[in-house]
Amino acid sequence: MIDLHTHHDRCGHADGTLSDVAAWAEARGISVLGVSDHAPRFADERDHPRPSIQMARSQWDGYLEEASALREELAGRLDLRVGVEADWIPGTEDTYRAALARSELDFVLGSVHEVGDWHVYQPHTFADADPEAFHRGYWRELAAAAGSGLFDVIAHLDAIRVPGRASTGGAGEARGAAELRLGRSPQRPAR
Ligand SMILES: [Zn+2]
Ligand SMILES: [Zn+2]
Repeated sequence: MIDLHTHHDRCGHADGTLSDVAAWAEARGISVLGVSDHAPRFADERDHPRPSIQMARSQWDGYLEEASALREELAGRLDLRVGVEADWIPGTEDTYRAALARSELDFVLGSVHEVGDWHVYQPHTFADADPEAFHRGYWRELAAAAGSGLFDVIAHLDAIRVPGRASTGGAGEARGAAELRLGRSPQRPAR
């Protein structure tokens, strides 16, 4: 069994240390575990603008250090991959490309959480939005994220379903996104 999308206490909405997550995975027979906590808000100058959503910028180095040490420690027992879940924020590609160019990282998940000011997991932000515009915007951003070269994998492709709004809007855009080839530009040795 493989799980590449896991969080721990640095993100502010999960419990346990990285070691706890690894122990949880081992106990459940997971053979490949990706640790992939939320990346800092690299596009924001503040250290920790969203403490309940993602780690602080000042925690980034410690996260990578601890995760890669754990990867070595567990080698032979558990195939731990060091990853991160990074936001797709159009216009900040260069910032994210630089911040994510770290040799410790085995993979990067890309997530579309926001469509402009609308946040897919925060219904109050899109309460007055036109559902069609919201859905079309989501698929448009997803296609842009997939084509950006920043990410290895797009996380929770269906996050737009969380709000529970019925809409067929965006079907064409969805197809466009699915046809895009994912893959980051080579910038670090594969491992
Ligand atoms: Zn997540
Ligand atoms: Zn997410």
